[in-house]
Amino acid sequence: MNEEARVLAEDLISFINKSVTAFHSVLEIRGKLEKSGFSLLEEEDRWELEKGGKYFVIRNNSSIIAFVLGNKNVWDSGYKIAGAHTDSPSLKIKNEGASVKGGLLRMSVEPYGGAIFSTWLDRNLSIAGRVVYENDKGEILSDFIDLKDPVALIPNQAIHMNRELNKGFEYNKQNHLQAVISGVDKENSDDPSFIFKSMIAGKTGLSVEKILDMELFLYDVQEGLINGINDEFISAARIDNLAMCHSILLAVTEPPSDSNETNMAVFFDNEEIGSRTIQGADSSFLRDLLDRITVVTGGTAEDSYRSRARSFSISADGAHAHHPNFAESHDPAYSPVINGGPVIKVSSNYKYSTTSETSPFFKRLCRDASVPCQELINRSDIPSGSTIGTISSSLTGIKSIDVGSPMFAMHSIRETAGVLDHYYMTEVLKRFFKYGLNS
Ligand code: ZN
Repeated sequence: MNEEARVLAEDLISFINKSVTAFHSVLEIRGKLEKSGFSLLEEEDRWELEKGGKYFVIRNNSSIIAFVLGNKNVWDSGYKIAGAHTDSPSLKIKNEGASVKGGLLRMSVEPYGGAIFSTWLDRNLSIAGRVVYENDKGEILSDFIDLKDPVALIPNQAIHMNRELNKGFEYNKQNHLQAVISGVDKENSDDPSFIFKSMIAGKTGLSVEKILDMELFLYDVQEGLINGINDEFISAARIDNLAMCHSILLAVTEPPSDSNETNMAVFFDNEEIGSRTIQGADSSFLRDLLDRITVVTGGTAEDSYRSRARSFSISADGAHAHHPNFAESHDPAYSPVINGGPVIKVSSNYKYSTTSETSPFFKRLCRDASVPCQELINRSDIPSGSTIGTISSSLTGIKSIDVGSPMFAMHSIRETAGVLDHYYMTEVLKRFFKYGLNS
């Protein structure tokens, strides 16, 4: 195994381990950007931008866009954009959904995105997310918490109670996914939700009366690792889509930043639920930023249109690898393999933004980076998923391509990807940011 690829995979695993929610992904991305000389721009402030300057903007603390202003005006050179998403399917805790039954304090959950529910059962789960509280001065502030310890689990039914379990079972989201938090004394269970809130307060050092609201998610405490007899595989949670976030982050922070084009790394929240939020791909976030850069650097409204027309965007998200145990799910002519290189995703119904004009650009990038390249079209009777590519390109008018690294078990609590693939994708994205669009 390529040693560089192994080191990179270990760095990805460390990034995933810390990025337990979209909020934490943004904290990690922000930390790396700041170490690399990027500085925060607040949307409500007046901006001054310098050529070669490195900046980032955050919305809702769960989406973040970083850019390195190019040497040429954006309307003369355009943007090179690479985008991914910070969120992953999860189970979100209902703060008032606590109940006590059979001596157990349980929290009901609301699925976020399309998780494979069965994989969430019998795992050691922790809790992380955003707690909003009032400080002594009456200010409303946010804190991002990660309990880290396994404090919850969702026990499965015993096979003896349902001999048909292995024939497929539909887990009821309200009843069967309730998370057991603790054993409690029935005498003190008048207000189970208050007990839960007190537990969170106790773990975070905040007083329970000061907590105003919480957005908390369950996650698996088992850390990611490298698997396979020759260390070929990355086994971890949230590979979709933190692997692509990691590659883009490394590429955009790679020195030197003397590109004529403006390099931009986009990390959107809420892809898993359709992107339509104030911070998602289906929002004004990216377009506002693109237009604002034009205006702040002295351009006109027309210059803004010109800059977008000269730009190119790569939307990077997980791709389904050929799974030999489920070979019938794939079109044999388009079955990318793990460690076979980045995958270009194509859909006749434009679930992906790839066109016959944008795919050659990415193929050439792969060739120039000495990286193999694969292509994916779904079986004709299985509709493909979608991602941020078409949403972003339709909102901005920027030509785009959808790509991703091949992986197994997308949306399982534990996904699998290739060590070499992660290296390949990172190399291609570095090349994208390093050289001009036409070089
Ligand atoms: Zn994804």
